[in-house]
Amino acid sequence: MTAVGSLIILAIITSGCFGVYLRLRQIQNVSRNRNTVPQDFVREVSLSDHQRAADYTIERTRFGIAELVFDTLISILWLTAWLSPLYLFVAHYSESSITRSVMVVLSFGIISHFLEMPFSLFNSFWIEEKFGFNRLTLKTFILDELKTSLLTCIIMIPALYAMFALLGALPDTWWIFSYATFMTLTVAMTVIYPTLIAPLFNKFTPMGEGATKERMESLLLKCGFESKGLFIMDASKRSAHGNAYFSGFGKGKRIVFFDTLLEKHTLEEIESILAHELGHFKYGHVFQIIVQSAVLALIAFFAIYYAFSSGIISNWFNLQNDPGVVLIALLLAKEPISLILTPVLSWRSRKAEFEADDFARKIVGQEAMVSALTRLTRDNLASLTPDPLFAAFYFSHPPVPLRVAQLRIEIS
Ligand SMILES: [Zn+2]
Repeated sequence: MTAVGSLIILAIITSGCFGVYLRLRQIQNVSRNRNTVPQDFVREVSLSDHQRAADYTIERTRFGIAELVFDTLISILWLTAWLSPLYLFVAHYSESSITRSVMVVLSFGIISHFLEMPFSLFNSFWIEEKFGFNRLTLKTFILDELKTSLLTCIIMIPALYAMFALLGALPDTWWIFSYATFMTLTVAMTVIYPTLIAPLFNKFTPMGEGATKERMESLLLKCGFESKGLFIMDASKRSAHGNAYFSGFGKGKRIVFFDTLLEKHTLEEIESILAHELGHFKYGHVFQIIVQSAVLALIAFFAIYYAFSSGIISNWFNLQNDPGVVLIALLLAKEPISLILTPVLSWRSRKAEFEADDFARKIVGQEAMVSALTRLTRDNLASLTPDPLFAAFYFSHPPVPLRVAQLRIEIS
């Protein structure tokens, strides 16, 4: 390995250590506040609920440390010891260079997936189970695994073949075409996913007639929101966590409520949650996210192009200059860059959440939104006292105490 290669390994280790440091801060802050419910929540959240949320957060964060350390070690092993032999092994069995590249990426994906599996099993069947959230059965878990693997193969194998074939045919411009195809697929996915893929995993039932539907429809009308209807998803099949979202574009937009959300909230709260989701739509957040991923993907495709045509990545790590190997190496070496990018993306996302909250407040008033957020936090055992630095780095949603404070400030 060259000096640059060693520096990248060092950067991967450093970003892993920094991730552990942030998680330790989170554990420390949550345990320190374990015995006091924050002032704003003393009426709605009991001390025992607050302590349970702290225990849940601490346990999940400890688990997060183990996973991060494991992932960092595995990334280093791939770059320094496993990737090259894997390529040689695959090369032994495949004649064509395109098939070889595809097979390398595929075998890497399969091995990584199996290495990760104990963690997802432990998460669902140990932590989530212990705190009463898990409703996943082993049967559903295995079925999910099979469906996901099949779907990944159906999408990834042709995509990789096309990309590597293009790379051979148009060595200088392939990445522009691949990028254009990738973006087309990404946008198409916003339509394909809710209508074709999500129904493979969950049942979506149109919301039945009644008070809830009436309230939601009049809210949609009030906000001038056209949609393909309101759906209830059987999220309770996997987990007791509640949520709502909308998906799709134009007139094909669907609004989806988790059944677990409808079970636990009052009509006013459900209305405020929908109003919040509509806020995301009104402020163009979905479009912003697509633009953001378009920019990131452009940089990624250029990086693959540059790394392969210049051969630098293979040089740095003493790897074969095969496009499959280069692709994997880039994927593994990007961790230090993600560390810089994560807080920026999280910050943007939190800003959007505040905007959507503000929109909801204007439509349904602050109290419904405050009470929905409080109930969501309590039911999902989210900590009310996260570490500020940890939250700044990783939280896509602002901590609930800040959201509630913000909702209450703006009214005066
Ligand atoms: Zn939101």
